[in-house]
Amino acid sequence: MLRKSMVSLAVTGSLLFGMTAYAAANPSDHAFDNKIVKRIKVDNIYKTIELLSEEPRVAGTVAEDKAVEYIEKQFKSFGYDTRVQPFEMFQYNPPTTVELSVDGLGDTDFAPDTFTYGVNGDVTGQLVYIGLGGPEDVEGLDLSGKIALVKRGSYTFAEKIFNAAGAGAEAVILFNNTSGGINGTLGEPSDDYVPAVAIGRDLGEQLADRLAAGEELTAHVKIAGAKVERQTSHNVIATKKPNRNKDTGQIVIVGAHHDSVEGAPGANDDASGTATVLELARVMSNMPIDTELRFITFGAEENGLIGSYAYAESLTEDELDRIVGQFQMDMVGSRDAGELIMYTVDGEKNIVTDLGAAAGARLSGVVNYGQEGRSDHVPFAELGIPSALFIHAPVEPWYHTPEDTIDKISREKLQQVAEIVGAAVYQIARLDTPALEHARVAPKPVDYEFEERELE
Ligand SMILES: [Zn+2]
Repeated sequence: MLRKSMVSLAVTGSLLFGMTAYAAANPSDHAFDNKIVKRIKVDNIYKTIELLSEEPRVAGTVAEDKAVEYIEKQFKSFGYDTRVQPFEMFQYNPPTTVELSVDGLGDTDFAPDTFTYGVNGDVTGQLVYIGLGGPEDVEGLDLSGKIALVKRGSYTFAEKIFNAAGAGAEAVILFNNTSGGINGTLGEPSDDYVPAVAIGRDLGEQLADRLAAGEELTAHVKIAGAKVERQTSHNVIATKKPNRNKDTGQIVIVGAHHDSVEGAPGANDDASGTATVLELARVMSNMPIDTELRFITFGAEENGLIGSYAYAESLTEDELDRIVGQFQMDMVGSRDAGELIMYTVDGEKNIVTDLGAAAGARLSGVVNYGQEGRSDHVPFAELGIPSALFIHAPVEPWYHTPEDTIDKISREKLQQVAEIVGAAVYQIARLDTPALEHARVAPKPVDYEFEERELE
């Protein structure tokens, strides 16, 4: 691997050149940046992190509710219109008992796996092979009282189970089409599932061959102890409308996630981003703008980006047309993490990274970009909205541990990210030029590079 110091030397060379060119071409940008930079009080960010990280803020818990209440109160105190968006999430407790046996196969150990959101049951029935378990595979079949043997592929696990159950099957045994086990999910809970287990390819093919040869096989499937708990988590949304008569119709979203994983106070992950969102909201609360700003802290990011998906799915066509960018800050304050980087889902530059790189060059040094999902920029990217994750990479070794505490937070890192994201957002939102045109033109002189930098 190429040594990092060599990479950054090369980058620094082109950066200085780019920065000079850019500064000369747009002398007023520094004045605009200063409107943001001079107002940022890093102690506000630090104190918010300190407060939020007193305890873990697991989505759906009272601790999350407390954080949500605090965040909304802060937004309101800055004069924002706020909305708390509730959304449902499911906590799945996997089964405590999983058994599979087939008469005549002695004590073959099938080592059955189960599926997330799978249901309990205790079924004995004749085994019937239904291939891939597509609609055409079960057409005209009466599987009442039987157990369907299905091969992986072509359809989702849930579709296979629905198809087999629809034909009357009491349970499903799904076998792999490749080596190894299946660690699968059915996506969401349903009352229409029947108990289902997954087994390896070799054992599954052996069963299918025996059935094809005319053997009759009786199987027993038992699953017990699986449980789905319904929980509610929340997003907090603060909106600032543009000045009347100056409205470009554009919307910019600045986001972070306020939840943390179990057992981790989440000072850096992601009280740091949440606190920076709050501070930027405060800084911009009285500024004249021509672009609607939405400051959002998402819930249940750690459970699979559930809050940001819920928010993204709630957007109207009109809003989707008008959102020009989403800036996501996740883990932006650890003294023990690497340098700032902007990750896009597709690994391509976009207007968010262009603006971030340009702001970085003007303020503290170039910011490069890379390819990574794993945060709340993903649902927006999937909707075609330019978005990027601002994060220090590699991340600190104790992320997602009880050691993610306030004493490891660096004011310098917080300040740098707040300045860069704030200046980048303000470049779109400020009044002086037609916003999107300005945003497109201004960052061009800055060179910034793609980096294969791993998060951990
Ligand atoms: Zn995390």
